[in-house]
Amino acid sequence: MSSLKVYLNNAASTAADPAVIEAMLPFFGEQYANPADTSLFAAFSRNAVEIAREQVAYLIGADPSEIVFTSGGTESDNMAVFGTAVIRSCDNVGRLYASWRGVRIITDSVEHPAVMNPCRELEKRGCEVIYAPCDANGLVDTEFIKRSATPGTALISVMLANNELGTVQNVCELKCAAAEAGALLHTDAVQAAGHMPVDVKKLGVDLLSISSHKIHGPKGVGALFVKKGTRLQPLIYGGGHEKRLRPGTLNVPGIVGFGKACELARNGLEKELDYLSRLKNMFIDRLTVNLDGVHINSPENSVPSILSVSFDGIEGSSLLIELDMKGICCSTGSACSASNAKPSHVLSAAGLSSERLKGSIRFSFSRFNTDEELEYAAKVVKESVERLRRLCGYAR
Ligand code: PLP
Repeated sequence: MSSLKVYLNNAASTAADPAVIEAMLPFFGEQYANPADTSLFAAFSRNAVEIAREQVAYLIGADPSEIVFTSGGTESDNMAVFGTAVIRSCDNVGRLYASWRGVRIITDSVEHPAVMNPCRELEKRGCEVIYAPCDANGLVDTEFIKRSATPGTALISVMLANNELGTVQNVCELKCAAAEAGALLHTDAVQAAGHMPVDVKKLGVDLLSISSHKIHGPKGVGALFVKKGTRLQPLIYGGGHEKRLRPGTLNVPGIVGFGKACELARNGLEKELDYLSRLKNMFIDRLTVNLDGVHINSPENSVPSILSVSFDGIEGSSLLIELDMKGICCSTGSACSASNAKPSHVLSAAGLSSERLKGSIRFSFSRFNTDEELEYAAKVVKESVERLRRLCGYAR
């Protein structure tokens, strides 16, 4: 066992920034009042939530009134998909039509399960869901989506940055097609926000999901951007919080921490992108020198935080265990499918050979990783790959 621990699974979750923790602390203690309480006693927490709303809006170029706080990326995605589908399947006084048939959603084959599975559920209920294919880089075929977006389409949902390959999708190309079809345009920006410039106006989206714990904020909090004037059906019913779109007492410490994380991400964005790009390129250089059979699956335009690599002649899952024993934490795919032995649907959709699928590993970086950590991790990965290859008699 090694004493140096290197965490390279930042696409699964990140360490909370010390400034985020500091901002949250008062709200676990003396500032416990419910922000829905209109008394002076609650003014501090009420105000803190509104400051956080501004900070979140600032990260994505939105107006604070367009931010709805949720429990994270999964809830935001579900709210976008179900919220749109339900509105489209009701008449204008909210009565459900007899059938979901006629509600059309267009998404793609590389979405995170937080979008994919609500779509599959709606399909079971009778909605029509179209899954656009992608190329070998995981880049979604936007021409296919434009052709499929016939009038009456309810929603087009295409993620901004893929969580396994890091591929950045051409979401802004879809805004005209969505508008012409009368569809809402949603993007899951959970792996994009804080890792590339994100501006809801430039993207032309109606709905955008983000999550706090991917950008050094606390877990269990996120937001859905809902463009002014967009009609959405809530997923849950209760009080009037979050303009009745998401009832329930607000998670004040989480929201405050999320806001601080967004502010840090926006103010440090350019510096962070340079830093992560340099780390990623250095890691690729170190991995590929004097080691054959290494394939970089992430395309050139991927976010700098994510790197997918395949190693010939080994099983990614065996390498993962070996690296874990040596203090290096990475992943074979998304955190949500880590316990799932099935090959990644993203890498399969990108058409990777079964050999490359089997030997794939995702490394993901953050502002807290150092050069020294990455030098060490690359050395250990190479030694482990060579050892596993020897054990299974791999010969090129
Ligand atoms: N969307 C993407 C692209 C993700 O990578 C993740 C988490 O890995 C989610 C959604 C879910 O976010 P959360 O963990 O906040 O529910």
